[in-house]
Amino acid sequence: MRESEFSAREWLRYARQIQLPEVGVAGQQRLRGARVLIVGAGGLGAPAALYLAGAGVGHLTLVDGDTVALSNLHRQVLYSGADLGTNKAVAAAQQLGARNDDIAIAAIAEPLSAANVDALVAAADLVLDCTDQMAVRYLINAACRRHGRPWLFAGVERFAGQLALFVPDGACFQCLYPTLPEQLQDCAGAGVLGVVPGMLGLLQAGEALKFLAGLPVPSRDHLLLWDGLGLELRRLRLRRDPACRCCGASDIAEMQVATVCSTSASADWELSPSAFAEAWQRPDHLLVDVRSAAEYQAFNIGGLNIPVDALQPDDPRLAGRSLLLLCQTGVRSRRGAAQLRAAGGAAVYSLRGGILAWLEAENFR
Ligand SMILES: [Zn+2]
Repeated sequence: MRESEFSAREWLRYARQIQLPEVGVAGQQRLRGARVLIVGAGGLGAPAALYLAGAGVGHLTLVDGDTVALSNLHRQVLYSGADLGTNKAVAAAQQLGARNDDIAIAAIAEPLSAANVDALVAAADLVLDCTDQMAVRYLINAACRRHGRPWLFAGVERFAGQLALFVPDGACFQCLYPTLPEQLQDCAGAGVLGVVPGMLGLLQAGEALKFLAGLPVPSRDHLLLWDGLGLELRRLRLRRDPACRCCGASDIAEMQVATVCSTSASADWELSPSAFAEAWQRPDHLLVDVRSAAEYQAFNIGGLNIPVDALQPDDPRLAGRSLLLLCQTGVRSRRGAAQLRAAGGAAVYSLRGGILAWLEAENFR
């Protein structure tokens, strides 16, 4: 008897998949030999990784610098209450390993950055963008161009999602989004229905499996626009932009990535939850919750409620005080603080990450 290529466990585990003529033994072998880098183990990465691990993708590397928080659990289905406070890449690797120990899973417990992106991308056959940060997508895009690697972009907001497979000889992400789109900068503050990243993560896993198994991939060089409210899926052809700053001249591309990444840096008047708590203890400080009256009534940690659009620099209630602004995720309070500072208010601060970061830091670690 000749030695088998698959173990008995693998043969049983993947039986339903190998049975598909489009996959077969050859497709399963390709999946087993594939190396996939998953950037972000959150709402997209959790479902995508579950199905890639289940399908027998042989080498998964998960990159994430965040820890599991209570506000993640409504959509990040890999995690439970027992994982709170654990690094996401580490927790995900544990969960995936328990489901399939026939594959190799590596956890990188730090964010993707200019320092580690090249080594990680070069070692992968396919990169999955499962982040929610535009700056990281430009970083992935540039690195994938440098190393000739394909990558699957996915993004979600509210009830909608986008997905595209970028390949080395096709259009790139920066052909699609030449500069950081203004409306996408605040996507962390926009909210999302939990099933939407779930749907997009599954679409991503499906496209990844087809790509790795050598099947046609409809999202290749196309942007899929998925509308979860109307249940519509549109597919737009992507064209390479000859003037693109990434897949055009490489020196300009580097510059562009640096510019894009610097926009996510926070100002020195944006305070961490602990610095905010310290400032709050001082008597001359006034806490101003800039969310809507309905949000304030539903849950608040005290202070005066003035919705961000009603903030006035000459409001007598704010006179002579150092102002500590807060909102749900830190986006509106940053806007309000910037506005008051531009109008001459020197002692105006914003709580970075908002009430959610405050609660995570105080109670749910
Ligand atoms: Zn391009």
